[in-house]
Amino acid sequence: MRIDIISIFPDYFAPLDLSLIGKARAADILDVCVHDLRSWTHDRHNTVDDTPYGGGPGMVMKPQPWGEALDEITARDDVVTADTGESAVAASGVEDTGKASERPSGPRLILPTPSGVPFTQAHALRLSQEPWLIFACGRYEGIDSRVLADAATRMPVEEISIGDYVLGGGEVATLVMVETVARLLPGVLGNAQSVAEDSFAPGAMDNLLEGPVYTKPASWRGLDVPPVLLSGDHGAVDRWRRDEALRRTVRTRPDLLERIDPAHLDERDREV
Ligand code: SAM
Repeated sequence: MRIDIISIFPDYFAPLDLSLIGKARAADILDVCVHDLRSWTHDRHNTVDDTPYGGGPGMVMKPQPWGEALDEITARDDVVTADTGESAVAASGVEDTGKASERPSGPRLILPTPSGVPFTQAHALRLSQEPWLIFACGRYEGIDSRVLADAATRMPVEEISIGDYVLGGGEVATLVMVETVARLLPGVLGNAQSVAEDSFAPGAMDNLLEGPVYTKPASWRGLDVPPVLLSGDHGAVDRWRRDEALRRTVRTRPDLLERIDPAHLDERDREV
């Protein structure tokens, strides 16, 4: 997958050299290119913002640098749709609605904005099937709306929110989305199955939150690991994990229960 990020603060993306994403980049699973929007300004002060039409507080990002940045970045023709491993979508058991042969091999533009559609794990799974994503990081009161309208004539555009709160800019939201999508790419996680068992995984986990996890030692500061996890009885362990996932979801995110297909619930689930 190719990811281009456009921002006036390219240094925000230094963490993309670390951990899983850094390794994915080194292994050529992921190609990330961060661009400074100010490279597409032409005045002495590298101006990217101006006052809003209609008045009001704050500044708005000018369309001109964004238009030129997108023109230049999307003009490249060396991005191919290479995806040979088992995808996280396949591992998750989710129906893969995006048929690779029908998907455009060009870029999909993502605009992080608090007024976008909420970002979810299902959303990330869908984006992980794309060959090329471009993230446009807004600042101030956002980007002049004509940038979207113009880009939408040439590529799919999505406005996405990472939550019901307002950040200072799109950089942190982009980091959130890039990390979520990148760990779903084939070969990024050591064990693709762990994606299927994550919280919100629509397959085996039925959108439930993952329950508590433990490692050695079996007893620590007087606190014991639940005995079932030491029993070696895989059926009992699976049942315990599902019970705990149900309990945690009821406790902290009862709204998620509505997403469970009632046909997936057995008698024991209903008791929990
Ligand atoms: N005035 C805008 C509004 O109320 O919708 C907020 C602009 S915010 C200060 C500046 C930028 O931060 C936005 O253009 C967007 O790129 C990013 N941003 C802020 N909150 C976000 C969120 N919850 N999800 C995604 N991006 C966000």
